[in-house]
Amino acid sequence: MNKGKKLYEGKAKIIYSTNDKNLVIQHFKDDATAFNNQKKSKVEGKGVLNNRISEHIFMNLSECGIKTHLIKRLNMREQLIRRAEIIPLEFIVRNVASGSLTKRLGIPEGTVLENPLLEYCLKNDELQDPIVSKDHIYNFEWATKDEMNEIDRTTLRINDILIGLFRGIGIKLIDFKIEYGKSWNKDKNENEIVLADEISPDTCRLWDSKTEKKLDKDRFRKDLGNIIEGYQEVARRLGIMPEETNVKEVNFNKNSSIKFKKK
Ligand code: C5P
Repeated sequence: MNKGKKLYEGKAKIIYSTNDKNLVIQHFKDDATAFNNQKKSKVEGKGVLNNRISEHIFMNLSECGIKTHLIKRLNMREQLIRRAEIIPLEFIVRNVASGSLTKRLGIPEGTVLENPLLEYCLKNDELQDPIVSKDHIYNFEWATKDEMNEIDRTTLRINDILIGLFRGIGIKLIDFKIEYGKSWNKDKNENEIVLADEISPDTCRLWDSKTEKKLDKDRFRKDLGNIIEGYQEVARRLGIMPEETNVKEVNFNKNSSIKFKKK
């Protein structure tokens, strides 16, 4: 598989073409951003950890019958994935109140939600990924009713599977964000919806079940320090990254490298 030109560069990943038009390479960077790109830093080793953690989770989901874009991991930072046209929505699932939900609605942090709460946000950095309703989604044709029904069902199944996966290793899944794309299935000769992007401590809130210590990107957002240690802990408990010592040696927590954009 030959790596071709850069097709797209996002905040945490780069997509490259390959010599197969239906396949692309997803490269995980070490860049960390928060608050709509206002806080930026390099967290050395993060890309490697997210690549491994996301691969592990996608493989587990695939074993449970969830269709995903992942073909295989290529190396420490890259995955071979199916090319997909990304639906311009972020699908957020919440099991416990935290983050923007607490700010928006005044729900106390840590409130256990009776049922998983599904939220939809438009993927638009300039507008700061605003929350949207299904009516917005249908009106502006970001997805059809059939697509949304399928996505809602799949998203709740993913939540069930992930809650179990993390509970087994002493971690509470507080909330997470996923994305879907439409990808060509050449056997069926039609487009199908697949889970895309990544699932990692960058895109989930993960708390230690006993101590409620945060093991996710909130360590970066809230300046709690030792960002990579949280990610490593997740990888270690999932039984991956036996070579974690290589990452540990890197000086990851240089606060001086955190830059704030001038308003
Ligand atoms: O910030 P908020 O509370 O809405 O985030 C909910 C969940 O979605 C968190 O796990 C967060 O990491 C994830 N998220 C994300 N990318 C975004 C927005 C939220 O991964 N652009």
